[in-house]
Order: sequence, then structure tokens, then C-alpha cells
Amino acid sequence: MDGRSLIQPGGPPWVGTAVDWQRRYTTDEAKLDLTIALSRENVDRETGGPFGAAVFEIPSGALVAVGVNSVVRLRNSMCHAEMLALMTAQQRRDSFTLAPPGVPAHELVTSCEPCAMCLGATLWSGVSRLVFGARREDAEALGFDEGPVFPESHQYLRDRGIEIVGGVRRDEARAVLQLYLSRGGTIYNA
Ligand SMILES: [Zn+2]
Repeated sequence: MDGRSLIQPGGPPWVGTAVDWQRRYTTDEAKLDLTIALSRENVDRETGGPFGAAVFEIPSGALVAVGVNSVVRLRNSMCHAEMLALMTAQQRRDSFTLAPPGVPAHELVTSCEPCAMCLGATLWSGVSRLVFGARREDAEALGFDEGPVFPESHQYLRDRGIEIVGGVRRDEARAVLQLYLSRGGTIYNA
């Protein structure tokens, strides 16, 4: 195992088989459907919190990497779905940035609005687009803390060329949050 294998445990074993890696995801709704399905599977299988994320190439819609929340399972407060999707994508691209010369642009799609940590990671990752489903108030309604994310924070990313689209498939994403709540799931950063 080399050092870069460290992040491979980010996905529980079922993730590799739950995803259609050959499919092209050509709409934001299709991309959200994938991340919401991952979040629901993560709750159903009791492998983590109710959040799923994925990185796609633009404009082909090719799937590069996925992540599901793994904070409790890996005993690591940084293992949010978005972090694991971004880290895995960079590992697969063999680059610290998802915007290297000569490579298609990338986007991060996530079932819920990114917290402060993940929003920062989005900026540094090199993605040029961020799409999310549920909004921060939906997560906060469960007791999750999104941290210091302000309207200015989103504007900061936009000013650096990152397009942000929120609220796609919000009801479907929120339903998984409610499922997690009804199952008595751990609220780890409340
Ligand atoms: Zn996060």
C-alpha cells in the first residue's frame, strides 16, 4: 500500500457495485439522483450519514468518483461525502487539481449544500461547478452544523469562476435526511 491508498477506504465496499460507471450523466437532475441514491444507500446499509457526492467531467457527464459520508465509520470528522469524492477524483486524475491543462473541466455534485470545510475544499479542488440538492437549513433542521458558510462564501467561489447551482431535487434529498432522523442516526457534529 502506498501513501495514496490512504483515502481509498472512503467508500464502503458496496459503493463500487452500486454505481453505473459507464453511464453518462447529462443533466443536473440525473447527477443529483445518483448522489441521493448513494446517500439513501448509506443510510439503509448503516454505513454513514445521509450524504452522497460525486465528481463528473464536463460536458461529457462521465463519472469520475463518488463519496458517501463516512465520519462515524472511519472515525474521522473530515470524511464528508464531498471530501471523499474530491480526494478520490484527484487520485484518479493523479493530480492535486481537477483543472490541470489539457483535461476537461470537472464538477462536484452533492446531495446537500456543502459545509464550511467542503466549500473550502471545493474551491481548492479545481472544480469549475458545484451543484447541490438539499439546502443548509434542511441539514441544520436535523442538528447538523454547516459551520461558517455565508452568502459571501458562495460569492467568493463565484468570483473565482465556480458556478453554483442549489436546490436541485431538494425534496428527494431532504427525504433521505428525514429517513436518517427517523432511524435515530448519529448527529456527529451537532
Ligand atoms: Zn462537509
